[in-house]
Amino acid sequence: MSRIPDEIIQQVRDRIDVVELVGRSVALKRAGRSYKGLCPFHHEKTPSFHVNPDRGTFYCFGCHEGGDIFHFVQKTEGLGFLEAVRSLARDGGIVIPESSGGESGLAERIYKTNDLLQARYREELLRDGCAGAAYLASRGLSREEWERFEIGFAPDRWDFAVGVLRGARIAPELGETAGILSPRGSGGHFDRLRGRVTFPIRDARGRVLGFGGRALAKEQEPKYLNTPETPVFHKRELLYGLPRALDPIRRTGRAVIVEGYFDQIALCRAGVEGALATCGTSLSAEHARALLRRTRTVVLLFDADGAGERALERALEVLLPEGLRVLAARLPAGDDPDSLLAREGPEALRRCVETAAPALDVAIERVARAGTETPWQKADVVAELAPLLSRIPSALERGEYCARLAMAVGTEARHVEAAVRAAERGEDARDAVPIGVRRSGPEERNLRQLARCLVEHPLLALRVDRDELSELLPRGAHAELILTFVDAVRERPAASAPELAAALPEPSRKLYYALSAESELPIEERTFDDTLRWLRDQQHKRARREITRQMRVQRDPDEMHRLFQEKQRLQEQQAKDVKADHTTVGPPA
Ligand SMILES: [Zn+2]
Repeated sequence: MSRIPDEIIQQVRDRIDVVELVGRSVALKRAGRSYKGLCPFHHEKTPSFHVNPDRGTFYCFGCHEGGDIFHFVQKTEGLGFLEAVRSLARDGGIVIPESSGGESGLAERIYKTNDLLQARYREELLRDGCAGAAYLASRGLSREEWERFEIGFAPDRWDFAVGVLRGARIAPELGETAGILSPRGSGGHFDRLRGRVTFPIRDARGRVLGFGGRALAKEQEPKYLNTPETPVFHKRELLYGLPRALDPIRRTGRAVIVEGYFDQIALCRAGVEGALATCGTSLSAEHARALLRRTRTVVLLFDADGAGERALERALEVLLPEGLRVLAARLPAGDDPDSLLAREGPEALRRCVETAAPALDVAIERVARAGTETPWQKADVVAELAPLLSRIPSALERGEYCARLAMAVGTEARHVEAAVRAAERGEDARDAVPIGVRRSGPEERNLRQLARCLVEHPLLALRVDRDELSELLPRGAHAELILTFVDAVRERPAASAPELAAALPEPSRKLYYALSAESELPIEERTFDDTLRWLRDQQHKRARREITRQMRVQRDPDEMHRLFQEKQRLQEQQAKDVKADHTTVGPPA
C-alpha cells in the first residue's frame, strides 16, 4: 500500500485547527484551556466531550472516544486513515502527490463527481435562453442571487450528465452510485435531475453530498426530486444551507428550520441568519441530534395550514426528547416564507421569525381552539397534547407546560400531570383524566381524598353508613367510585384490591386506576372520618343557607314556623356531631 509522506501529514496537522474542525459539528464552549460540547459519538445531554487546541486532540469522558483530527474525521465519516488525511489535506489546500496518495476512496470519488456536476449545472444556468434562468426570474431571484446560492440547471436532456462524466473519464457506474444517473431499463444510464433547477446540498465541511432539483413545468412530477440515498447522502441527517449557517448559529445561539430550498433561500434573502432546510423528509431524530450538538434553540417556520400545523407537531415529537427549545414562527394564512417575502418584503419575514413563540404554547392554543367547554372536550384536549408534553425531558419545563395546558382548558394541573404520566407509560391519557374535572375547589379535593383513602383501606367500606354516604356525597365521578367500591367490598370482603377494581363499572374502574397510579404520600385511615365530617359540615351549611334564603322570602306564618324548626334541628344536629368528635370542625384538606 502506498503511503502519504510524514511531512505532508504533519503539514495537514499544522494547517487544520481542531477546534474549527470539530466546531463544525459540535457547539464548543471554552472551558479553561480547552473546549467542551456534546459528544458526537454517544448520545448525551450534558457535555463530556473535550477538545484540546494546544495538543490538537479530543476526548470524551462519557464514551472514552478520543484522538487527533484524523481520528475525528475517520470516526465521524467512517473513513480509513489515508482517506481522512486526503480529505483534510483538501480542506487545507495541501496537495498530495498522486504517486503517494494511491487510489482515493469511494466517498472522495463521489465528492469529485458531484463537484464536477455542480460546476457544469451552474454554467448551464448562465447560458442564453436557459429555461431554468427564466423560471428563477419568475420567482424573483436575481442573477446575483443564483450565484450567491450556487443554483444550477440540469438541461432537459437524457444524456447531459452522462456526457459530462464521460468527458471526465468517470465511469457511469460511479455516477449511478453518486445518485446523478439512473440506470435505463434497456441498459445504459440517463440523467436523474434533467429539466430541473438544482441546489447543491453540502455537509458542514462544504462538500457537495448531492442535489435537490425543482421541476420547472407544472406537469413535471415530482415537484422536488433529490439525490437518492448514496454512501454520502443520508437525507435523515442532512440540512440544506449548513456551511453558511454554522457561524450564525454559533453566534446567535439558534437555528431556523424550514421545509424547502426556496424557503431557506427566502430567509437568507430577508437577512434571517442560521436558516436550514430539510431535504425532502420531515425532521428526524438524527436531525435533532445534529442540531442539539450545535445549538439549544430551534425556530420552526411552517406553512400556516393544517398540514403545516401537523408538521410542526411531528417536528416537536422528535425535537423535544433531545431537550431542544423549540419556537414556532407563524406565517400569515396561505403564505410560505417565499410568498411572504415576495409580497411584503424582508422586514415582514424577519419580524415573523423574531416574534416566534414557544412551539408548545402554539400547539396548546391550537388544540384548545377545538373547544374546552365540557368535561369530555377538556379530556380530549389534554389527551391530545399529553404525549407531546411527556416527551419533555426537563421536569421543570414539563411541569410548567402542564400548568399552562391546565390553565388553557380550565382544569387543575394535577389532572394534566396524571394524563402526561399515563402518556409516558404509553396508555391513553384520557384514562388518567378524572371525569368531571370541571368541579374543583375544596369539595372536589375532599371527595378525591375520600376516594383515595377508601382505595387504600378497602375495609373502611364495612363500617360506613351506605345510605348516609349516598345522601352526603355530591353527584360526580368520585361519589360514583366511592359508592360502587363500598358495594363491591361489602359483597366480597375477602377480595383483593385488584379483584375489587376489576369488578367496578366502567367510569369508576378507570378513576380507580388513575387514583392508585398517582404517586402521593400514603393516606391514613382516620383521614376518612375527618373528611366525612367535613363533608357533613358542608352539607349542613348548605342546608342552613337554603333555609335562611327561604325564610327571607316566605310570607306564610305556618311555613315560616316549619322552616324555623328545621333550622334549629340542623343546628342541634351539628352541635352533636362536633361533640361526638371532640374536634374542631374544619376542612381536613
Ligand atoms: Zn462520548
